[in-house]
Parts: sequence; C-alpha cells; structure tokens
Amino acid sequence: MFKDQEEEVVDDSTKHGGRVRNFPHVRGNWITYVYMPYEASEDFLELLELLISHARTYAVSLAAMEEFHISLSQNVVLRYHWITPFVQSLKEHLATAYRFFCTVDQVKVYTNQNKTRTFVGLEVSSGHPQLLELVSGVDRVMEEFDLPTFYKNPSFHISLAWCVGDLTDRLEGQCLQKLQEIVDGFEDSAFLLRIQWEQIRCKSGNKLFSFPLR
Ligand code: AMP
Repeated sequence: MFKDQEEEVVDDSTKHGGRVRNFPHVRGNWITYVYMPYEASEDFLELLELLISHARTYAVSLAAMEEFHISLSQNVVLRYHWITPFVQSLKEHLATAYRFFCTVDQVKVYTNQNKTRTFVGLEVSSGHPQLLELVSGVDRVMEEFDLPTFYKNPSFHISLAWCVGDLTDRLEGQCLQKLQEIVDGFEDSAFLLRIQWEQIRCKSGNKLFSFPLR
C-alpha cells in the first residue's frame, strides 16, 4: 500500500488556502509533528472573532486556525518505516510527564521560517518550565532519528489565526497593543486562558498518536 518510492507531486497552493508548503509532497515521506491539542470553547472562539475583526481594521485579513495546539516540535519528515520506532521512543521519553496548567494570554505575531505565512498567537506567560521539559524529551527523540530539534529559545504559543505572506509590520505596534487590550478586557479571560494540558499528540501524515499525561 505504501510504496517506498520517491515521487514528487506538483503542489497546487489553491488547494490549501494559498499556503505554500514548506516541504514538497513526496510519497513515502510523512510530515510529522508533536503538539498538545487544545479543544476551543465557545468563549475562546468568540475572543478569536473579536481579534480577527480588529485586525481587519488594519487591513489584515486573518483566517482562524482550523484546530488549536501548542507545538512541541518543528515539522519533520519521517520515512514510513520510521513511524513505529519513532512513536515508541516518544512514548518512552514522555512516560513520566505529568498534567499541568499554563496560562496562554500574551498576543504575539509569528512567521514561519521562510516567511510565507504570518500567525497571530497567544504566547504562554506561565508554564514555560514544564513545556521546556517536554520539549527536551521530544528533542532527544529527534536527535535519535537525526531530525531537527525545536527552537533553542522557544516561544510557546497557541496560533489563533493566520494569513499568507509576512504581515508582521502591519500587525505589530499599535495593532498588537489593541489586540492585547481585547484579550485582557475579555470577560473571564484569566479563567479562559488558564488551560490544563492532559495529553500530547504526534501526527504523522494521516496517522494520529496520543500520549496521555499522568
Ligand atoms: P505553530 O502554530 O506552533 O505551528 O506556530 C506557528 C509558527 O510560528 C510556526 O511556523 C513556527 O515556525 C513559528 N515560530 C516562529 N518563531 C517561533 C518560536 N520562537 N517558537 C515557536 N514557534 C515559532
């Protein structure tokens, strides 16, 4: 079923919202990443809509993310036959990790590495040490498989919305300040944005693996 052959597929950016792929799609190579999923509540989505409509007044048209998470790895490329040992190693390295809370309430602008996409995210303001501990486990697995590790100085965040291109200049400064005011002034935002993390996931192609925290 999964032929181990390299075959480039022509990338059509109109099929994925105008996004430009960081990796060409090659059969047998599975884009893989490790993250903690966040199930958005109605209040969270309401806050997100407020932020998106404010960004519009600065001529930035953001699209809400389809799902929400905190990344614990970069996107890496795994060969199909590496998936099972990779997931097994992740399981071992994450076996002793406990559930924890962190607060995700600082609006920040990010771009991907080749600056083809801009993201507005909520950066963590507490819980950084626990996240670093998890990343150190994930990084050890990456090193074992000769894959790139995460940022040396990670800025842990939940991406909320994105747009094509590098729109950092338009979003930072006054716009960012106003977005932060919206977050700070949102009803019960302190409660809403203090999140308990209960599981880690690894997505590899269309396969999903879950690792519950203790
Ligand atoms: P994510 O929603 O986790 O995929 O993050 C959105 C983008 O933020 C990714 O393309 C990351 O490469 C980018 N990013 C830029 N700087 C950082 C950083 N210091 N820590 C984590 N992610 C970053």
